Formats: sequence, C-alpha cells, structure tokens
Amino acid sequence: MPSPIRNTALKVHRSIERPLSIKKVHSRLQSSTTHNIIGSGLEKERQELRTAKPEIVSASPLARLSTSSILRTLLLSTFFTRPILFRCGFAVFEKIAKSPSPWLNPDRNPLLRAAIYPLIYKQFCAGRNQTEIGQTSAEIRGLGFSGIVLCYGKEVQVQADKLVGYSYSSPLNTMDAEISQWADGNIRTLDMVGEGDWLGIKFTGAGTKITQALMNGEDAPAKFVEAMDRICEHAASKGCRIWIDAEQQVLQAAIDAWTFDLMRRHNAQRKQALVYNTIQAYLKSAREKVQHQLELSRREGWRLGIKLVRGAYIANDKRERIHNTKADTDASYNTIVEDLLRGRFPAQVGQGAKEIDLILAGHNTASIRKAARLASELAAQSRLKVRPDFGQLQGMADDIGCELLQVADDVQAREPSASTQAFVPKVYKCLTWGSIQECMQYLTRRLVENRGASERMKVGAAEFRKELLRRMGTGF
Ligand SMILES: Cc1cc2nc3c(=O)[nH]c(=O)nc-3n(C[C@H](O)[C@H](O)[C@H](O)COP(=O)(O)OP(=O)(O)OC[C@H]3O[C@@H](n4cnc5c(N)ncnc54)[C@H](O)[C@@H]3O)c2cc1C
Repeated sequence: MPSPIRNTALKVHRSIERPLSIKKVHSRLQSSTTHNIIGSGLEKERQELRTAKPEIVSASPLARLSTSSILRTLLLSTFFTRPILFRCGFAVFEKIAKSPSPWLNPDRNPLLRAAIYPLIYKQFCAGRNQTEIGQTSAEIRGLGFSGIVLCYGKEVQVQADKLVGYSYSSPLNTMDAEISQWADGNIRTLDMVGEGDWLGIKFTGAGTKITQALMNGEDAPAKFVEAMDRICEHAASKGCRIWIDAEQQVLQAAIDAWTFDLMRRHNAQRKQALVYNTIQAYLKSAREKVQHQLELSRREGWRLGIKLVRGAYIANDKRERIHNTKADTDASYNTIVEDLLRGRFPAQVGQGAKEIDLILAGHNTASIRKAARLASELAAQSRLKVRPDFGQLQGMADDIGCELLQVADDVQAREPSASTQAFVPKVYKCLTWGSIQECMQYLTRRLVENRGASERMKVGAAEFRKELLRRMGTGF
C-alpha cells in the first residue's frame, strides 16, 4: 500500500508532467512582473536550458537537500507552473499582503500563519528572530554554501520618477530619524550574521527623504554618510562584506556615486573588497559601466567589488535604456563575465590576477554553468584574472546552486592541497528577515519572479522529482 508521502509525491509528479499553457500568462502579471521573460525568446530559453548540459559530478547534487525541502519545492513549482492555480492563489496572497486589517495579518491570524509560514515564508525567508535566523543560516552552511547574505527588508517603490509607496508605515517624518532607524536595523542584521557572511543593503530603505535625494542626484547627506560608515566599520570588524543593491535608473546614478564614495574610503588597502556595487547587465550601458568602474578604482587606488545581475526593474523603468531583447541581455551578462574572467576589459590590461572582486548574482542556469566552467578552465591554466563567487536567492535555483556545491566538493576531493590554483566555486544564499507581515511585499515579488521563471522551474522540478523518486526507491 502506498505511503501518504508517496501519494503526495506522485500527485506532484503527475501535475508537473502536464504541459504548461504559456499563452495563458495573463496581462496583469505581464504588467507587474519584474523578472519574467518579457517578449519573445521563450523558445530560445527552452533551447538554452536543454543545451546547457550539467556538470558531471560524483553524486546527485540534490541529495544534500532535506526531503521536506524537496517536497515544498515541488508543491510550489506545481503552483507556479499552472496559470489558473497561480492566478487564484496570487490574488488572495496579494490581497493579504496589501491589507491593513489585523484579521489579515498573518502574524496575528493563526489560520493564515499556518498556511503561509511553512509553505511560503520558510521557502524564501531567513526567520522572524535571531534564533530562527541562526537555525536557517546553520542549515544553509550545513548544505555546503559558503554563507548567507542577510537583508533588512524595508524599501521605497518608485515608478518612472515618482515615489509610489513605502513598504512600512513609518510615523517618522524627519530624514535623520528615518536614517537612524534604518541604520539600527542594518546593525541588528549584521549582529545576526557571522564571519564570511554578507549584509545586503538597499539605499532606498533609508526612507522617503533619502529616496528623494537619490532621485534629485544630490550628494549623500552627512547623517547618511555617518550611518553607512558605522555599518561598514561594524561589518569589517565582523569579517563580513556588504553589497549595495542596484535599483531603478532614476536613482542609480546617485546610488553609484554614493557607493564609489564608500568604496574610496572603505575598500582602499584591502585584499578583498568590503563594499560591492551592483551593475545591471540589462542596461545598454552595462559594459561602459564596468569599464568606467575598473578605471576609476585603478586611478584612485581602491579595490573594486562588483555584483553582476541582469536587472530587476524592466517592467517599471526607462525601457529605452534596457536591451531590446532577452537574448541581448543574456549576451551582455555572459560577455561581461567572460571578459572580466579573462582580463579583457581595457582597464584590466597590466592588472594582476585577483585585483578585483566579483559576485555573480542570478539564477540563469546557462550563465552560471558557463561562468563556473570558464573559471575552472582558466584557473587550471593559471590565466584566471577574477575569481567569481555566486549568489542566489533563498528558495530559488537550488538545482544549479547544489550542482555548484557538488562541483566544489569534487574539486576539493581531487585536489585537497590549498596551494593549487584550482577553482572551487563559493556559493552564497541571499535571504530577507522579518515578521511574516514585514516580509509580505518581498514574498509577493518572489511569487511573481518564480511565476516568470516557470520554464526554468519546470526543468529544475524534473530534477527534484527524480531525486524524490530516488529516495522513495531507497526508502529515504
Ligand atoms: C542574489 C541576487 C541579488 C540580486 N540583486 C539585484 C539588484 O541589486 N538589483 C537588481 O536590479 N536586480 C537584482 N537581482 C535580480 C536580477 O537582476 C534578475 O532580475 C533575476 O536574478 C533574474 O535574472 P537571472 O539572471 O536569474 O536570469 P533570467 O531569469 O534568465 O533572466 C531574467 C532577466 O532577463 C532580463 N530580461 C527579461 N526579458 C527581457 C527582455 N525582453 N529584454 C531585455 N531583458 C530582458 C531581465 O533582467 C530579467 O530580470 C538579484 C538577483 C539575485 C539572485
């Protein structure tokens, strides 16, 4: 007689087998999604996923995940890859996320909490307090990840060039008070991570007035500079690194300028960057930005740290500044990575190896595999100029994340001596923490993003299903 777990697994299995009706992606989602494959290119994406062959590794990469995590991922992928199910579930979730009613607050309503916490919150968030965050972090490190990137999740939303909302209702109305509260939150976040971990920072989290200053292209206010110095010094004393998120274009010139100023003061004389700036490869200007930042850091004598992403704001940003097609964005991302790793940017000429730091944030299987493969080939020939780290969001792309971990284990088993040049990938998981209510906006974006990445999820789910069936066959 089949066990209940087997029954659940088979139901999930069957539902994932059914074909996805892509045409039914509704217009509402098209307008709100920030991460979907906008426009054509779907067939190309499928092709890329099919041809980006996995690394040959010594053990099933997913064998390291817990059975509960595999089941949760499979259940959620059923939800994300079935348009009707997603539409209904998402409408309810969005209503709860936007409602000010205490009845619809999942921290107060035990029924909502029982549904949202184990299935959605646990999949994507770090925890509600220090104990939960400590447990999540230990589990992630236990799987082989090099550490976590913890984010404190307040943010302002901007549409075109207008402020449209703040993710928490703040009674604070002075800029100094907003900045102090935000800085304290970031220091608390740093207190919850350990050596080798990261703090993820969004400047707009510092409040509506800071966001306005960014939009106006002003210099960073003294109180903000003081707060960031305090955060940087605290991170350095703990052996942590900081990345500054890239946001909409109307803010980004000032975000870059304020971050260069931080890098000038905190990245000089370092063997590893403390502060990383983010570059969005979907921008037509992405290559020039890389070249400019390489030149600036070299001229001024500080260490450059880059987080490379594709870019999250395509649906609500200046479209003309963004590559016309997904294929162009993919090419931009992949060629920037290749040229950095090979040291081909003009500003890298004459530069030694390991003089800049790079983290590749993203879930695109083909890009990640290409980057890891190239890094290991170049390292074997002592020609690798930049050693990339990898960053993924908690609850996403575990198939490719675990594949990199397995590659790392295999390299270390083959070449245990630390003196070898071998490239051992380091992978970090990025998480947001807070009460369920505080994380509802973040979770809403994760749901939209996962729905947008449903093609990739179908491929990933097949691997999860295989792993589950393998465990059922071996009695777990
Ligand atoms: C750890 C982490 C940190 C991140 N930090 C930031 C950040 O600071 N700032 C930020 O903006 N984003 C950030 N992102 C999100 C990131 O920019 C991408 O939106 C997301 O990762 C999806 O892209 P992908 O590389 O995983 O690949 P895919 O899912 O293959 O690519 C999707 C992306 O392709 C691009 N795209 C889609 N359709 C088109 C089209 N028609 N024309 C042109 N381009 C198109 C968009 O950038 C879209 O997001 C982060 C992501 C991760 C994992």
